Amino acid sequence: MVIIRTDFSLKRFNTFGIDVKANRFADIFRESDIIEIRKQTASNEQILFLGSGSNILFTKNFNGVVIKNSIKGIEEKEFGEDEIIISAGGGTEWNDLVNYAASKNYWGIENLALIPGTVGAAPIQNIGAYGAELKDVFHSLEGYNFDSGEKIVFTKDECEFKYRWSIFKGELRNKFLIAKVNFVLNKKPSPNLTYGALRGELNRVSISELTPLLISETVSKIRRNKLPDPAKIGNAGSFFKNPKVKNEKFAELQNQFHNIPKFEFEQGGVKIPAAWLIEKCGFKGKRIGNVGTHKNQPLVIINFGETSGRRIQEFSVLVQKAVYEKFNILLDHEVNIY
Ligand SMILES: Cc1cc2nc3c(=O)[nH]c(=O)nc-3n(C[C@H](O)[C@H](O)[C@H](O)COP(=O)(O)OP(=O)(O)OC[C@H]3O[C@@H](n4cnc5c(N)ncnc54)[C@H](O)[C@@H]3O)c2cc1C
Repeated sequence: MVIIRTDFSLKRFNTFGIDVKANRFADIFRESDIIEIRKQTASNEQILFLGSGSNILFTKNFNGVVIKNSIKGIEEKEFGEDEIIISAGGGTEWNDLVNYAASKNYWGIENLALIPGTVGAAPIQNIGAYGAELKDVFHSLEGYNFDSGEKIVFTKDECEFKYRWSIFKGELRNKFLIAKVNFVLNKKPSPNLTYGALRGELNRVSISELTPLLISETVSKIRRNKLPDPAKIGNAGSFFKNPKVKNEKFAELQNQFHNIPKFEFEQGGVKIPAAWLIEKCGFKGKRIGNVGTHKNQPLVIINFGETSGRRIQEFSVLVQKAVYEKFNILLDHEVNIY
């Protein structure tokens, strides 16, 4: 039976630690709970699917039902000689899956170690880090259309993955609940050291000594040194996406700012690190009251104490305005704002 709580505080359920309330809150542990909670939801009730709340900013109470996905479990299915399919429940902690794969010597998700959140939320923005993206190992996902109750399987193409984007962040936002995700992992060594900082850390290790475990531990070490731990200090990782600009726009910017960095973008144009833009506007480590950017990583906005989501949003708008005025670039937020 699904227990529904009313007037429920979400403070423990978002990594910014914002104290807002949900009108109704349900934690679901099995797929049959999805059917049950659907029956108990009015057709005009607002819905929000929630994982670990590590990519969400609440700016007000949620006047509807929050459905937290706690469907856990990891299963293996053989898939040819060199590959294996791993299926994980949407409520499984993402890093538990990374640790599982590393312990079995399966390659493909080790570069995505220590990203907070659940497996079910990972496809939403096609999580990525250290030269890897979820779409690189994605096979398919299973879930429920909340309007019709129909169970549907999505293939990779149908998910429309892009940089920090999928169909589930667009037209299917809060309409489709991801219950299970299937990944294709490699049994044969396939290290991805395209990311400079990772390569630098491992440059004394020979290729034959690399393992998924060593890479995931190295990524975790770099991340712990660089990023604030949301268990200790409220944040949701990168607040903004790296903006993509056309080559002509980048050439113009280069005339004005000679050392402006870029990443190549596979679909044409270039991406500019948002952290660099924010830093150049004087926002690195800037604090206003209990909100500010991290001293080492200005892309991360921090809740230094008891602040509201609205104050964080206002601060983010100040950052956007400063970057727009200096570079004529509008930063798009990566965090989901409610
Ligand atoms: C310190 C820190 C570092 C981070 N580093 C990275 C990084 O390197 N790369 C990266 O890509 N992200 C990063 N993030 C962002 C975050 O970890 C990811 O976006 C993660 O996938 C969010 O998972 P979650 O379970 O917390 O999702 P939530 O925050 O709970 O939800 C995120 C969105 O997905 C929706 N959603 C959640 N679960 C489901 C479901 N089962 N079905 C349908 N919709 C659902 C929600 O409605 C919401 O819109 C970081 C965050 C933090 C705090």
